[in-house]
Amino acid sequence: MNAQTTWPEGVIARYLTVGTATVDLAVVTRSHKYEDGITGTRGATYAECTGCSASEEFSHWRIHRGDYSDWEVEDPDAADSKARDWAQVHAEKCRAMPKPTATDK
Ligand SMILES: [Zn+2]
Repeated sequence: MNAQTTWPEGVIARYLTVGTATVDLAVVTRSHKYEDGITGTRGATYAECTGCSASEEFSHWRIHRGDYSDWEVEDPDAADSKARDWAQVHAEKCRAMPKPTATDK
């Protein structure tokens, strides 16, 4: 994890929106069930706006189209890239302001 102490744990990138909220990118782990019934976990890059709660998840896995069959390959960089694009686009148009921090939860 990046040692950016002012960011929430796990946040790998942060975009400032025009509404002064932020879009945070974080790597998350999701449970996944494979076709053969085995369950495991898979990484994904998760982008979430702190202003309007819009979010989008980009799996670290993508389909590789082979000549005779398709298979899945792990490609975190591609997921990060897509998440950054999403965050950038959202940050430019989102005018929702960050929610005031509650004093108690
Ligand atoms: Zn937003």
